[in-house]
Amino acid sequence: MFNLEKQKLKDMYHISDKVFELYDMTMRDIDDQFSIYDDIKSYNQLKVLDAFQSERISESHFTNSSGYGYGDIGRDSLDKVYAKIFNTESALVRPHFVNGTHALATALFGNLRPNDTMMSVCGTPYDTLHNIIGISDKKNMGSLKDYGVKYEQVDLMPDGKFDFDKIKHKIENDRSIKLIHIQRSTGYGWRRSFLISEIKKIIDFVKKINPELICFVDNCYGEFIDTVEPTDVGADLVAGSLIKNIGGGIAPTGGYIAGKEEYVTQASYRLTAPGIGGECGSTFGVMRSLYEGLFLAPHISIEALKGAVFCSRIMELAGFEVLPKYADRRSDIIQAIKFNDKEKLINFCKGIQSGSPIDSFVQCEPWDMPGYDDQVIMAAGSFIQGSSIELSADAPIREPYIGYLQGGLTFEHAKIGILIALSNILK
Ligand SMILES: *Cc1c(COP(=O)(O)O)cnc(C)c1O
Repeated sequence: MFNLEKQKLKDMYHISDKVFELYDMTMRDIDDQFSIYDDIKSYNQLKVLDAFQSERISESHFTNSSGYGYGDIGRDSLDKVYAKIFNTESALVRPHFVNGTHALATALFGNLRPNDTMMSVCGTPYDTLHNIIGISDKKNMGSLKDYGVKYEQVDLMPDGKFDFDKIKHKIENDRSIKLIHIQRSTGYGWRRSFLISEIKKIIDFVKKINPELICFVDNCYGEFIDTVEPTDVGADLVAGSLIKNIGGGIAPTGGYIAGKEEYVTQASYRLTAPGIGGECGSTFGVMRSLYEGLFLAPHISIEALKGAVFCSRIMELAGFEVLPKYADRRSDIIQAIKFNDKEKLINFCKGIQSGSPIDSFVQCEPWDMPGYDDQVIMAAGSFIQGSSIELSADAPIREPYIGYLQGGLTFEHAKIGILIALSNILK
């Protein structure tokens, strides 16, 4: 780091010499990691470029349809570009998905029928799925359970691995199981994200017992962190958010579903209406952003990932327990830090907020966020509201006070935010 930058950081944020010492050590340690991820980034850039060129994307795809949105070629071609990237028969990429939860819900509701069972093989799914499945305290929301869809769960082993024996036992003894739910990212848990090789292993295992089962992967935060996606290793259906990795920080909103045509079509009937599916839906001028965001996504996702690696190492050097560790192979952009202390957690988040380009003057506080059972604190001074491919930190306010950091449109910015946050809690 230039002394010029150091001095300016000191002037702006009163960052201590101790933090700069940790910074220097961290940068030396993480260099090798950066080069691994740079190779992945370069390959994925090429993969995305190939998809654009194969579909002959041109300016005419930056459509601005209205009304029913019939024949919106920008929308229909983007589906094909996504399908090519995910190596699937079909994809449904829409600004009409209000968030990742909505895309996941659409995939699940579209493909599950009364008396079917959905089974998670990696423990409790992400918080916002509890209401969808019908396992939260809230009643009569029209959950899957309310519609007669059953739910089973196999917890992970204490070492964070799949419990193959139990999974086999359940599948063999319950003919109603129709869909296997796999969550790639950690969510608000304390476990590693699943590598594509691990996802392949569980899918191969499940398919060997019953090839008819739909293997569904919640791919949130995982896109472009590896050279392959879950759909390259047998996942039948994946879903995610456009204000995370794959929107490249440019997509203003939306979500996607990709997979076997049959399953994507069922999901599309749920997004709009039976018989309408993906053929309707005007795109009000956002197509250019969705294309451009996708084009930038391999680069931006790795920028964010570098922020996570940096955070992991510097927080570890500062004495905190972190997951994953800086040299662990990653499959998502999340960095979890265990604070064991409510105030430290909140001050860390406040530090991230004060290093943001937008709303840096705002103090973030815990609040009752829709869809979550505990209070949640969210530091997000982002261009796009709640966008977590932009530098952000959040946490449910519960013991042992684990904070989750993710995003950063540039590593340079992620680094600044993390230095401020660390400085905040060392004071
Ligand atoms: C972010 C996320 C979701 C969806 O959250 P939204 O805020 O609705 O986009 C679902 N699952 C996981 C694992 C996530 O990280």
